[in-house]
Amino acid sequence: MLRRGLRKKCPVCGGGGLFTRWLRMKERCPTCGFTFEREEGTFLGAFVVNVAVTEFAMLIALVLGVALTLPDPPVLLLIVLGTLSAVVVPVFTYPFSRTVWSAVDLAMHPLDPTP
Ligand SMILES: [Zn+2]
Repeated sequence: MLRRGLRKKCPVCGGGGLFTRWLRMKERCPTCGFTFEREEGTFLGAFVVNVAVTEFAMLIALVLGVALTLPDPPVLLLIVLGTLSAVVVPVFTYPFSRTVWSAVDLAMHPLDPTP
């Protein structure tokens, strides 16, 4: 399920086409009909995943930027690149965080086989 989420696929059936635009997810899977937001606030977890990924990317960029330019790191350039990554990374990773979180949510709360 997590692998499907990392590829922006439905965690239940692996179907694609879950987004109408980069940041706009369909309510249901077009293949199997799985409802992604199973309860209100489901995607708060996706938001947390996205923030964690962004923070990690910024940390890696900062550490690499300082390590590669020692002993005289370009502070202003690093601030600009860090700020840019704080804007670009979450926009890029948000759809993945939603499908990954759908997979995590499904693993924590499996579908009920009884009607
Ligand atoms: Zn599906």
